[in-house]
Amino acid sequence: MEIACLDLEGVLVPEIWIAFAEKTGIEELKKTTRDEPDYDVLMQYRLDLLRQHKLGLNEIQEVIATLSPLEGAADFVDWLRERFQVVILSDTFYEFASPLMKQLGYPTLLCHKLETDNSGNVVNYRLRQANPKRQVIVGFKSMYYRTIAAGDSYNDTTMLAEADAGILFHAPDNVINEFPQFPAVQTFADLKQEFIKASNRNLTL
Ligand SMILES: [Mg+2]
Repeated sequence: MEIACLDLEGVLVPEIWIAFAEKTGIEELKKTTRDEPDYDVLMQYRLDLLRQHKLGLNEIQEVIATLSPLEGAADFVDWLRERFQVVILSDTFYEFASPLMKQLGYPTLLCHKLETDNSGNVVNYRLRQANPKRQVIVGFKSMYYRTIAAGDSYNDTTMLAEADAGILFHAPDNVINEFPQFPAVQTFADLKQEFIKASNRNLTL
């Protein structure tokens, strides 16, 4: 059997911190790893902002529940699940993703976790493991599964390289140019075609 591994943010749903910053009007939350390359410094800064704005887990999830998956994403996931076992590999947190996963029919999601205190305040975060996306592919390969992976950004490229086939989806030009070994597509219709091409079975639309 083949397993389809999908990135979440930028592929199926918007960038969650950015969308959350827009919904709440907290501009400082738009800072990303491009502005602050030290991930721990960035996360502590974000957690401080959540505390300052008195946003506990319930408030965060209420805001995120008002966000929607990208147009066509839910249909694409349904299409994919009829043809592959589907696993979403993300660098987001379960607590952030869960309201959006509900809208995608709860496919399997492997990502990181936030820690909360008894009052629902987010006090820390826990990464699942180092190099998390690539390690999942390594794990599936150790079980002799064939993997096809799709993602949009730098944090996906080790996953794409490790998989039997890797596809760039919605990737910006700089990523496409740096990784010409991966086919790059921009629409769900084309992404379906790439999965069909990458499969070793005779799949059809
Ligand atoms: Mg992404």
